[in-house]
Amino acid sequence: GKVLVTGASGYIAVWVVKTLLDRGFSVRGTVRSKSKGQVLKEVFKTYGETLEYVIVEDIAKEGAFDEAVVDVDAIAHTASPFHITADDPDEVIFPAVQGTKNLLASAKKYGNDVKRVILTSSSAAIASSSGEAAIRDETDWNDLSVQEVRTKGRDAHPFDKYRASKTLSERAAWDWYETNKAELGWDMVVLNPSFVLGPWLHKAENVAGLSTSLRYYHSVVLKGEASDEMLATSGTSWVDVRDVAEAHTLALIKPAAGGERIVISANAFKWQDLILVARDIVGDRVPAGNTSYDPTKAEHIQYVTDKGRQILGLTYHSIGETTRHMLHEFKCRGWL
Ligand code: NDP
Repeated sequence: GKVLVTGASGYIAVWVVKTLLDRGFSVRGTVRSKSKGQVLKEVFKTYGETLEYVIVEDIAKEGAFDEAVVDVDAIAHTASPFHITADDPDEVIFPAVQGTKNLLASAKKYGNDVKRVILTSSSAAIASSSGEAAIRDETDWNDLSVQEVRTKGRDAHPFDKYRASKTLSERAAWDWYETNKAELGWDMVVLNPSFVLGPWLHKAENVAGLSTSLRYYHSVVLKGEASDEMLATSGTSWVDVRDVAEAHTLALIKPAAGGERIVISANAFKWQDLILVARDIVGDRVPAGNTSYDPTKAEHIQYVTDKGRQILGLTYHSIGETTRHMLHEFKCRGWL
């Protein structure tokens, strides 16, 4: 079968494309420009014609996916703005919400062969990060970030603007799905990965060209650009990009995933934990960070991951493996 992957030149999406191709699916990726399409073809040149691309410049434009959904058997919608530089919250919220609504509407109207649609949401739609310990699962929603953005507007924390974009786009998707379900030839699966780390396959000329989660890791862990206080008290949960890609493929294959919201996450961390793991591998190339950190006192938001393990049969890389493979990439390019 053929799978449409939106935002195919992104960090996660390139791994989703690879995982699908390796399983024998053919893939149509949407990219914003011809040059991004060519780069994608180059990454997968050994796969020949099983990968094609179409250009969707802006997911927020009405009818953006009308042509892209024709003749595909399934869709993985990963495209959504992931940056933390927006001033006006609508720079991220509008394209996230509108892009999702457009995708669903196109799939309904023109996706005659579509049997399943997978949406890449985020743990950001489940919980806001906080210093306090908590246990969160698929029944939880991060409405706090939405409220923050509603009250503070441009002055809201950049992370809250992004998180609100994920909460609002996922809510819009479920609302739309409940309304339209009876008339659809397909079902929907939502995946909620936590902070994504691991090696990358997409092209990046420099650190600034990496996606937001990798850039943030580079700044905080590899360059030591964070306060001792932040390193010991701030963090979230992480997951390997290859496991996220595998989850998308399994969500496509496993019938029981239909209609489910599924957390995809390996484990919780504080930034100093990631520094300690990195120093185990490359020693003093990584700054020591907060030397008085006591991991036994760290408070975590833990995500319950039973659903992903049971429905998808997903297993996870360890933080040691993920870090080793990621640091290898940084080292090869002289960015460490
Ligand atoms: P990337 O920035 O690498 O990927 C985002 C993709 O979406 C890019 O291909 C980007 O294109 C595309 N895109 C964004 N806005 C538009 C738009 N208006 N029109 C067309 N295309 C657009 O980030 P990730 O791979 O990390 O993220 C992919 C998905 O996973 C997102 O939905 C994100 O919210 C989600 N996610 C990410 C996590 C992480 O830690 N990385 C954690 C949990 C969820 P271009 O680059 O050309 O602008």
